[in-house]
Amino acid sequence: MRKPIIAGNWKMNKLVAEGARFVVDIREKVPSGDEVDTVVCAPFVHLPFLTEAAREYHVQIGAQNMHYEESGAFTGEVSPQMLEDLLVDYVIIGHSERRQYYNETDETVNKKTLAAFENNLNPIVCVGETLEQRDNNETMSFVEGQVRQALDGLTEEQAKQVVIAYEPIWAIGTGRTATSEQANEVCAHIRKVVKDQFGEDVSEAVRIQYGGSVKPANIEELLGMSDIDGALVGGASLKEEDFLKLVEAGQ
Ligand code: PGA
Repeated sequence: MRKPIIAGNWKMNKLVAEGARFVVDIREKVPSGDEVDTVVCAPFVHLPFLTEAAREYHVQIGAQNMHYEESGAFTGEVSPQMLEDLLVDYVIIGHSERRQYYNETDETVNKKTLAAFENNLNPIVCVGETLEQRDNNETMSFVEGQVRQALDGLTEEQAKQVVIAYEPIWAIGTGRTATSEQANEVCAHIRKVVKDQFGEDVSEAVRIQYGGSVKPANIEELLGMSDIDGALVGGASLKEEDFLKLVEAGQ
C-alpha cells in the first residue's frame, strides 16, 4: 500500500506572516503522518520559519526549486545544502513553470534529483505534456522520456522514495482538470516506465501524484484511481480550509 501524499505548491504567493499563519493554523488539524503525507511547498524566504513551525507536527515543508551545486558563484541561487540545513523535507524539481520560464531541462532535472538525495531531501519530480503534444498523441512518449531522464542514475532505494508529479501543462491553473481516466492512464504509464527502469518492487512503491486544477470537488475521484497516489496542488492550496479538505481526502 502506497501512502498518499498531498503537497501544496504556493508558487510565488503569500508574504512571510501569511505563510506563517497558514502553517500555525493547520498544523494541529492535519492527520497523522502514518495515514497521509502533508507537504507545504513555499517560497525560499518562508522556509526558516515554516520548518520551525512545523517541527513536531505532521506538516512537512518543501522548497519549490534549488540549484544542484553545493555552493559557489551562482548569484541568486539556493543550494541543496542550504535546504538541508533548514531541515526542509521535500523539494519540487522541474515544475513546468521552471522548465518554461527558467530553462530547466531534463538534464538539470536529473542533476537536481540526484543532488536532492545527496542532501537528504525528498524530490517531487514534475513531468507533463503541452496541449499540442496531447493533441498530437505524443503524451506517452514525451512523458516517458522525461521520467527516464529524470531518474537516470538513481539507486533502487532512491527510486522508491522519489515522488513523481504528473502535471499536464494544459491543466495547470486553467480550471481544466484532466479527467480521472486521462490522469490515471498517464500515471499508469509512468509506473510501467519505472518498472522497466528499476523493476517491479520499485514501481509498486513509487508514489505518483496528479497535478493540475486539483480542488476539494475533484480530489476524491482522482485519488480513487489505481495509479494516482496523491496530488500536487497550486491554487487550491492557498486557503487553509481548502488545503485541509484536500489532505482529509488523502486519509
Ligand atoms: P494548479 O497548479 O493546482 O493551480 O493547477 C498545480 C501546479 O502547478 O502544481
